[in-house]
Amino acid sequence: MIYADNAATTRISDAALNTFITLSRDTYGNASSLYTVGQRAKEALEQARADIASVIHAEPREILFTSGGSEADNQAIRSAAVLGLSKGKKHIISSAFEHHAVLHTLNKLEKEGFSVTLLPVHEDGLVRPEELEDAIREDTCLVTIMYANNEIGTIQPIRELGAVCRKHGVIFHTDAVQAIGHIPVDVEADNIDMLSASAHKFHGPKGVGFLYAKKGIRLTNLIEGGAQERGKRAGTENIPGIAAMATALKEAIASLSERAEYVAARRDRLIAGLSAIPHSALNGDATKRLPSNVNFCFEGIEGESLLLLLDDRGIMASSGSACTSGSLDPSHVLLAIGRVHDVAHGSLRLSLGDDITDDEVDYIIKNVSEVVTYLRGFSPIWRDLTAGKKPFIL
Ligand SMILES: *Cc1c(COP(=O)(O)O)cnc(C)c1O
Repeated sequence: MIYADNAATTRISDAALNTFITLSRDTYGNASSLYTVGQRAKEALEQARADIASVIHAEPREILFTSGGSEADNQAIRSAAVLGLSKGKKHIISSAFEHHAVLHTLNKLEKEGFSVTLLPVHEDGLVRPEELEDAIREDTCLVTIMYANNEIGTIQPIRELGAVCRKHGVIFHTDAVQAIGHIPVDVEADNIDMLSASAHKFHGPKGVGFLYAKKGIRLTNLIEGGAQERGKRAGTENIPGIAAMATALKEAIASLSERAEYVAARRDRLIAGLSAIPHSALNGDATKRLPSNVNFCFEGIEGESLLLLLDDRGIMASSGSACTSGSLDPSHVLLAIGRVHDVAHGSLRLSLGDDITDDEVDYIIKNVSEVVTYLRGFSPIWRDLTAGKKPFIL
């Protein structure tokens, strides 16, 4: 079995699982309590906050724990909108291929009277800093652009985008869920004001994440209740999850560059192998992409059937993001980079694990090639293409 869907979620690491178990079993107190087991829990919480802050070059009080990436995205955007509104600024800039946690929050704000500009991501899957600068207006209160895309893996020029925002005094948020723990992220050097992250994308547990908000940015709370997280996120803290997230992140950072180099070499081997399939194309820039991400379109087939047949051969992959698979609409990410509907339907995302081997890569290449040929054998679109009734696009 080859699990190649690490962009959807990852397996919890043994060290993170150990932290989770130990804290659940031994340090089960409520961090708001005064007795010892409660105070130990409080210490574990603050240690995790300090550890996570130091990884991204933030201060502990700039880290707010959430239930994951979606909540962090919602809270960041809502907070910036509330701040904007107080100054009469109701314009937000984002990009066309953000995660739905961002896009759907922006849709809601549009209904509430905000105007939203979505920057194009071009064929290479990248936003242009000059285009961001042109889009900024007097009333822009937020720019939110993801660090790395979850479907095609392209890494945005975050530092340059952040610099444009700094120059114009606009808050810059980035959804760094795919980046954290996989490539270096430094909120100071990257000019980031707010950042979202999620533990289950870097071998931590599910249902826990964090929002970095630079000091001075007043957050709006989404959940009313107790005074946890300085009153910005009510509810008894998920301390086992939070501490396990810190363990996973420290572990990921300790070996980041070696792992990235190793995985990127297998990624490139896989890209080279799949490129040999006729009428196929890599989605997104070949080098400015996550070390683990491979995303292809194969003309004349349907991604869904490809996935099922690959599953039969022990390969677990995805055709788009986990959130869009199951719906018949082609991926908004692939449409955003200019793939037409028919082509976008034949997509395959392979997000490799850190332990992927050359033999496994070769197994994937062989099986994807066979299955694509097999499916084309009875595809009406492929018949029309080969008969010259329709022009090939790829
Ligand atoms: C997975 C993901 C999210 C959502 O994170 P959850 O913790 O699952 O809520 C948001 N943004 C990106 C880019 C993601 O990949």
